[in-house]
Amino acid sequence: MKRAIYPGTFDPFTNGHLDIVQRATALFDKIIVTIAKNSSKDPLFTTEERIDMIRESTAYLQSVQVDSFEGLLVNYAKQKNASVVIRGLRMISDFEYEFQMALMNRKIADDIETVFLMPDERYTYLSSSIVREIAQLGGDCSPFVPLHIEKRLKEKYST
Ligand code: ADP
Repeated sequence: MKRAIYPGTFDPFTNGHLDIVQRATALFDKIIVTIAKNSSKDPLFTTEERIDMIRESTAYLQSVQVDSFEGLLVNYAKQKNASVVIRGLRMISDFEYEFQMALMNRKIADDIETVFLMPDERYTYLSSSIVREIAQLGGDCSPFVPLHIEKRLKEKYST
């Protein structure tokens, strides 16, 4: 049974993230999408809200679970019996940071592999931060996130 974790901030989960998860389901028996709680970023949505939103977005994918974690990623992966970390690569600009993280994780735990997946080209320009910015400015986020998340974004910025 090949298990993988897909860690991230997912603030919020976008169609780009969903595209990566869908691709991963063809490669692994089980995928745990997991929210990194110790990120230095100050999130718009709470961990619980993000877990809910990812659960709803991936409910149709039976091999996907949603969770959150604190501490070292590789320790979390081992705890979950996962040998693979999935990350998405959009553009060259993602590469430097992702390469550094992957090699550092390998240094700490060389039995955990990082696998990079590329999204459909429609999503290569998409990021959670750009979605938050559009929502904050009152723009239409429906092409970028699942409908229930668009609704939540509107609610957040209307208060
Ligand atoms: P992090 O703070 O860990 O980068 P993100 O939620 O921004 O968290 O991203 C999680 C992972 O998903 C990263 O590997 C990132 O490169 C990837 N990702 C983000 N947006 C997209 C997208 N539009 N298409 C494909 N992968 C993406």
